[in-house]
Amino acid sequence: MVGSLRLVRPCSNLRRKTCSFSARFWALLAAPMRAAAEKIHTLADLAQWSFVGVALAVVGRPVAHSLSPAIHNAALAEMAKSQPAFSDWRYFKFDIDPAELSRALALFHQRRFHGLNLTVPHKALAVPQLAASDAFVQAAGAANTLSRIDAGWRGANTDGYGLSTALRQNPGLDLAGANVILLGAGGAARATAVECLRQHCAALWIGNRTPGNLTALLSDLQPFSGKSVLRGFDLAKPPAGLPGGSLVLNATSLGLKPGDPSPIDLGKIPRPALVYDMIYRPPETALLRQAAGLGVTCANGLSMLVHQGARSLEIWTGAKVPVDVMQQAALAAC
Ligand code: NDP
Repeated sequence: MVGSLRLVRPCSNLRRKTCSFSARFWALLAAPMRAAAEKIHTLADLAQWSFVGVALAVVGRPVAHSLSPAIHNAALAEMAKSQPAFSDWRYFKFDIDPAELSRALALFHQRRFHGLNLTVPHKALAVPQLAASDAFVQAAGAANTLSRIDAGWRGANTDGYGLSTALRQNPGLDLAGANVILLGAGGAARATAVECLRQHCAALWIGNRTPGNLTALLSDLQPFSGKSVLRGFDLAKPPAGLPGGSLVLNATSLGLKPGDPSPIDLGKIPRPALVYDMIYRPPETALLRQAAGLGVTCANGLSMLVHQGARSLEIWTGAKVPVDVMQQAALAAC
């Protein structure tokens, strides 16, 4: 295992190194801020929303696992020390049924939320409901960062940036020229696929459970594929032609629940160079356990969480964001 990719067996190892920091970190955060980071709000809470400061939120189902409030509130507290304007900014967590997303987005807008992060399963579902979106969202068909504008919500996507920055920093891998095996065809996979093609990966193999979702993604990606080889496969039957020495990136939600099986049997594909699971809570999934057992370099998604979150916060605040503080908060909270 490599450097900070110790996050594969993170919490047991890292807690030993960071527990004193963790205790100090939580003690220093004011009680209302800790409560904001921990409580799961609902649509009913939104209907009676009374917070008077600048509100941000992550919206998903499930969302209990999300560490976004912890990392954003830590960054905002740090920024408020030198820029008092940020002292009334808070980041909340909302559990919203996908069937209620449209109503929720309208209510978040009415309640004057400044920005939203979307997580599973809302990233692709929200796109038709946006008033505006950037080129990355239009290519990926998925948004994870919404900013309030008068007409509604403007969508951006920081997942591709978050993943590529995380991989570049540690273990120092570039998507450019890489053979990538991407698991999943949902919102996170869509952003990852666009980032891989934008950075001219050598080949992008996408495996998914539901054939229709895979076909739709491949067809959306075709115009951007350039010289990269682009292929799809059934996740349950990995084909013989998968490349060795690849980056295996899990963007399925399989692994979020304790006891979930791995989305793919690594023993049935050529040995990868890296296995990266975008799931970070639980910190070790069945996929990562198998990778570690095979001696393959591997990591969970905590580093991606930090970098995509930092870019989202830059978009909302227009200010420089303390990435190191977000990183420490993520480690302390995991
Ligand atoms: P979506 O709901 O949009 O997509 C879910 C994907 O998982 C689909 O491809 C779906 O396949 C697949 N899937 C779900 N259940 C199963 C199953 N039982 N077997 C096989 N495949 C399954 O979610 P997102 O794309 O938003 O998120 C995916 C994961 O990535 C989540 O765990 C999320 O927490 C994580 N993530 C982490 C980030 C980070 O910063 N670390 C950032 C973004 C996401 P199908 O098409 O068949 O339904």
